[in-house]
Amino acid sequence: MRSYFLLIIVLSLTLNITAQNNAPWRGKKAAVVLTYDDAINQHLDNAIPVLDSLGLKATFYITGFSASMQSRLNDWKKIATNGHELGNHTLYHPCTGGPGREWVSPDHDLNNYTITRIVEEIKATNVLLQSMDGKTRRTFAFTCADTKVRDSSFAGLIKNEFVAMRNVRASMHRIDEVNTDDVDCYMVNGETAGQMIDWVKKAVETNSLLVILFHGVGGGNGLDVSIPAHRQFLDYLKQNEKDIWVAPMIEVADHVKDWQTRQRINKLTEEDHKDMLAKLKITSLRSGVNGNDPNAPNAANYDEAKANPYPDLPDPLVLKNGKKVKDVKTWWNRRRPEIVEDFDSEIYGRMPANTPKVNWEIVGVSDTMNGEYRVKLKRLIGHVDNSTYPSVKVDIQLTIGIPVDATAAIPVIMEFGFVFPPGFRLPPQNNNQPPSPSWQQQCLARGWAYAVLIPTTVQADNGAGLTQGIIGLMNKGERRKTYDWGSLRAWAWGASRALDYFETDPSLDAKKVAIEGHSRYGKAALVTLAYDQRFATGFISSSGEGGAKLHRRNAGEIVENVASSGEYHWMAGNFIKYAGPLTWKDLPVDSHELIALCAPRPVFISSGEKGDGWVDARGMFMAADAAGPVYELLGTKGLGTNQFPKVETGLMEGDISFRQHSGGHTPGPNWPVFLEFAARYFK
Ligand SMILES: [Zn+2]
Repeated sequence: MRSYFLLIIVLSLTLNITAQNNAPWRGKKAAVVLTYDDAINQHLDNAIPVLDSLGLKATFYITGFSASMQSRLNDWKKIATNGHELGNHTLYHPCTGGPGREWVSPDHDLNNYTITRIVEEIKATNVLLQSMDGKTRRTFAFTCADTKVRDSSFAGLIKNEFVAMRNVRASMHRIDEVNTDDVDCYMVNGETAGQMIDWVKKAVETNSLLVILFHGVGGGNGLDVSIPAHRQFLDYLKQNEKDIWVAPMIEVADHVKDWQTRQRINKLTEEDHKDMLAKLKITSLRSGVNGNDPNAPNAANYDEAKANPYPDLPDPLVLKNGKKVKDVKTWWNRRRPEIVEDFDSEIYGRMPANTPKVNWEIVGVSDTMNGEYRVKLKRLIGHVDNSTYPSVKVDIQLTIGIPVDATAAIPVIMEFGFVFPPGFRLPPQNNNQPPSPSWQQQCLARGWAYAVLIPTTVQADNGAGLTQGIIGLMNKGERRKTYDWGSLRAWAWGASRALDYFETDPSLDAKKVAIEGHSRYGKAALVTLAYDQRFATGFISSSGEGGAKLHRRNAGEIVENVASSGEYHWMAGNFIKYAGPLTWKDLPVDSHELIALCAPRPVFISSGEKGDGWVDARGMFMAADAAGPVYELLGTKGLGTNQFPKVETGLMEGDISFRQHSGGHTPGPNWPVFLEFAARYFK
């Protein structure tokens, strides 16, 4: 699921969600979590060798002060190094005593505990386990399934300490029904392998999570499984790996939470999208193209012969009244405002006039190394004044790295930074290797500062979040009107507020600030540069549809994809109209005019090649070319040619520049080219 999630984030491709519903466990039909309670020697001696020989990872719920922990601490540390989870099962294993529980000693009888004592005991166990495996995130298992001290539950007091908490109830659930604060499990007590395998078969049939609880394994506890039954059961799991995902509790719980969050967001997003369609009085939309499956009936077009159904673009140098713009003054005073108005009303939405003040707080300064460079790293939070609607809070995250040996005010390269969920892994892709040196190090090598703004702290990247963030704050928690701004314009607003801060920092030259963004943030970077003329230049990476690509092009992603519920939040609600009933040619402006709004400031439009067809490099090139006349009117230079260049051949002579690297969907290989381009202006 996480690799699919990445596609949603980075490539903005449409997904076949139905396929995942039958295999919601990382593409498999069921998940099995093996848990071993109480930290007993037989786990180390009888269970671990079998698990390790099969390459299966389990969760060991550790009782901190158990005999085995006291005598074999290093063996327990070693299993963590080998990828097993050390879960928390308290220090002393207290349980509620009473009839049938005569073995509970008075010292460790929960009836004799206070709430504070059990909570502190559990937290102390986390400290112990952290000292063993270095981890700050883990899961918990209630001892004897007890969640109370006499009549008071302590579960709510510890749940924020854990990714998940396991109880003991023989029940299994589908991914949407798993409660990670109260996970059920099947406790093994003398079962045969066949009986345990039947549980697994049921989990596979019902697409469920099955958690197994072992105590003794060939002895060590009255609740036991025989060594052969344990071995046979694990063999079965291994042999059926194609259907069964076996992983520690923490990994499975993270996956469940991500999945449930995404489902919640999708549902709210669908509702908001429907609400916007109703406001626009739209009853049906044309559907987007499929970028994943070239054999799909609605597969994205990559045939240049079919790519230009509407070749006539609006002329950036013709006024609405039909008169030609012949002088600079007419551009600035009349034509440019006309274009801005069209983008405001129909494409990106209207930013409210009275956006609130942002109070930048420096929350941390450290002197650190980035590669071979000494850097002063400043972490800032931009608190947005929310006194008009306190229930929406917006705190913008910004980090700035400044070379410590800088003596004068220096240029800043600011990136819109991606944030991935905890434990998130990038899918392996040879051409997506992080460049070495990193872009930050390339900036530092030139004696420049770098900054990373986290756009999702300004505005969420989904429709569900439109009643929150800066857009929600301005609307006092209500849904958008048809002309209200979308996330791209909101992210650009956030970048402008960061630039406000740069203007107050004497170590930075606020007249030499570049904005960079990739993919959806490439769109945001272009919007930023177009709207805020204080930005000196921009690196617009793989921005595609909604960015530098012409809306009138039928190649890769198209208007209909951006108008769908997965992406409409980037734009004004009004943009959806152009996916039905209107068409692309009805758009009053196109992307070449967005690039023209950047004039006369230098801009670098770019993409990759293999695996980056979705963003339509040629459509972005054509827009860059068509913006040229505005640059020339203002005394600067356009691309200088209308011939689409070869891959890896940058058109770098003009003030509009273009380059397609031979890699995939990444800005990496174009960073040195952009910095060289910016250096011409940052002398
Ligand atoms: Zn126990």
